[in-house]
Amino acid sequence: MKVIFGGVRGSNPVSGPQYSQFGGDTTSVLVCGAAGERIVIDAGTGVRNLQRHLGAATEPLTLLLTHLHHDHLMGLTAFAPLYQKQRRLTIAGPVAAGGQSDTLANLSRYMGAPFWPIELSAAGAQLTTHDVSWYDGTWLADTDREFLAVGSLEVRACAVNHPDGCLAWRIDEPASGAALVFATDLEWGRTNAEQRSRFVNFCRQLRPLSWLVMDGQFTQAQYEAHAGWGHSTLTEVANVGAAVGAGEILATHHNPDNDDETLRKHAAELQALVVGQGSDAPASCAQQGQELAWPADD
Ligand SMILES: [Zn+2]
Ligand SMILES: [Zn+2]
Repeated sequence: MKVIFGGVRGSNPVSGPQYSQFGGDTTSVLVCGAAGERIVIDAGTGVRNLQRHLGAATEPLTLLLTHLHHDHLMGLTAFAPLYQKQRRLTIAGPVAAGGQSDTLANLSRYMGAPFWPIELSAAGAQLTTHDVSWYDGTWLADTDREFLAVGSLEVRACAVNHPDGCLAWRIDEPASGAALVFATDLEWGRTNAEQRSRFVNFCRQLRPLSWLVMDGQFTQAQYEAHAGWGHSTLTEVANVGAAVGAGEILATHHNPDNDDETLRKHAAELQALVVGQGSDAPASCAQQGQELAWPADD
């Protein structure tokens, strides 16, 4: 399994030479299975950087949405597969309980007049949507469903604490033993004991994580001024990553105010915090364009 980061910036895209190392595009990540499966997580502006990896229009593609805040959708209207008539595109996204909305309706509001000239329904791709509850991570049309199969990959969701709700996604490749948890836009500081144990169990199930990618937007000092904004600290990323035994730990959703120099310091700080937790896992801040592979020599 391979993971490619198209964008790792939080809240708003940024550009300039001071962002050239970690990148300025907002959240979008591609997961490729060994058998050619392709799953994109979130459609921030970074989705454009992934386009050359998305295969021919005749190949199926899955898009998982953590939540619908703008920074995670800004790239959707320019997402080429949406406009490919032969493309079978499966989209899974979070919805509130009570059936007040669904993923198709939410995205149709986002993509259509007066916000965009092409309606989602007229874009062209053959869409299938799945709704996942942001309260408990269940698949709403099929609450007994344990995971969504994408080829040989298994996709699972866990609800996490964030304003308006958010999902962490887990992707397993049983044949290779690869496992990723991608948990952006998660405020660990306001996550109660029950939610914490649910998330830890989500990370620990089945097999050890190859990678935990977790929201680490703030230093402890920055968090004090932004409690309730829905994001976690580097300390929390280190603590959770070590507690779940992740093989590699990466912070994401970098604050737009943090330039490369700052993020290099954060990466070193995160590694020191992880070592302080007794873990020997490599730890760093995710970089736009970075690729991870499992097995490592894949
Ligand atoms: Zn965000
Ligand atoms: Zn958000």
